[in-house]
Amino acid sequence: MTKKPVRRGRKPIPEKERKDALVQTRVPDELSQTLRDAAKKNRVTVSQLIRNVLEDTFDLVDNVVSEAVSLGQTAKRDALKIAESAKGRGKPSAMTVAALENVDAWQGVKLNRDAQCARCGRLMTRGESALFGIGDDAHKVWLCLSCGSQI
Ligand SMILES: [Zn+2]
Repeated sequence: MTKKPVRRGRKPIPEKERKDALVQTRVPDELSQTLRDAAKKNRVTVSQLIRNVLEDTFDLVDNVVSEAVSLGQTAKRDALKIAESAKGRGKPSAMTVAALENVDAWQGVKLNRDAQCARCGRLMTRGESALFGIGDDAHKVWLCLSCGSQI
């Protein structure tokens, strides 16, 4: 029975990839010495050490960026939900529903601040396209595009 050996640490670079692009850079003597010391300590060449550091750095950056994006979206969604319930939103007020009846026309707009859809109650965010109700009623009425398409 052959058992696949358990490899620890970084996987070795395949033979055919060993002659990849050459990247050269000048570094101060002090950094050069630090690199040589670190390479010796880790029993790798300076070249391997730098390659490892670069790979780790870009893996880390990729992970941090993708996690930050998804975390940011979740946080924004949660914050909007909290804001909606804190402001008693979620369902449009009776005044908003009444004002909806007095709208003469709908104007397509790009929101400069958050607004609530008068029909579904969804909190629309700044930068979103929406419809603004034009009429005699002083109460501002907004519609999301989804509700606007059902008029
Ligand atoms: Zn809506």
